[in-house]
Amino acid sequence: MGEMRLDPENLNYTIIFKKNTGDCKVCSIKDAPIEILDFGSSHVKVYEVKTEVQPSKFELQGERFKSSPSHGYEEIIVDREKHGDNFLSLNPEDIAKLLSIVSHRVDSLSKYKIGGNVVINRYLSGHGAFDLYVLPIPKFEGKGCSVCKDNSNTLNREIYRGENFVIYTKFAPISNVDIVISPIKHLSLEALDEVLMFDLAGLIHKLLNALSSKDLSIIIYESKEKHFTLNILSGDVSVYRFLQINEINESPEDLASSLRAKFST
Ligand SMILES: [Zn+2]
Ligand SMILES: [Zn+2]
Repeated sequence: MGEMRLDPENLNYTIIFKKNTGDCKVCSIKDAPIEILDFGSSHVKVYEVKTEVQPSKFELQGERFKSSPSHGYEEIIVDREKHGDNFLSLNPEDIAKLLSIVSHRVDSLSKYKIGGNVVINRYLSGHGAFDLYVLPIPKFEGKGCSVCKDNSNTLNREIYRGENFVIYTKFAPISNVDIVISPIKHLSLEALDEVLMFDLAGLIHKLLNALSSKDLSIIIYESKEKHFTLNILSGDVSVYRFLQINEINESPEDLASSLRAKFST
């Protein structure tokens, strides 16, 4: 089980999670899907994952070190049963269909009180699946919508501006490639209709062709004000790294315990 913690001094989060590095997360799923959706001639299967996200033992907002009422959720939306990803060979129609399925899942989850910090990632050299997290931490709250501000302040980082979407490189990237595609209007993913979804899919397709790499991650995110962005980053970028959350494998208590034992001998 993973555990989220907040450093009370600098308000940085850490997730402590023992990773099985060798195993493919999708291939190691054992439970039955919670939903099966049509995807052209095949299906998309949705699986709930209960190993990684859970509430912190410690208060995440306000007073230090009290139990937190917040909790997380994770599911994997699989469109390719076999190992490997097929995303780069999908045409814009298929990409649009797939994004609509992801949007449908986000919409379904909004009925439950599991919080609004939804982040979805997909590594293009991984297994063909979107990994959807609802993280048990609050979103960054600024004044007004941060995405609306960024969209109108792209300057010489702008790659494309059409009627509906803008594409630009991030001002302070976290990877060599860190590109944002965002609706110019203040819209959530769930609010995109078929026409906008197809427009978006075409832009993703074009951008991935231009980047011509498989070592890329797609991250879907919405600001606190629910303005949607689709981000393309180089490397295998976890949702934690995207949010600049530290990932560690061993709890400080476990490390202290093993060192304590050595000190006493
Ligand atoms: Zn796999
Ligand atoms: Zn906005």
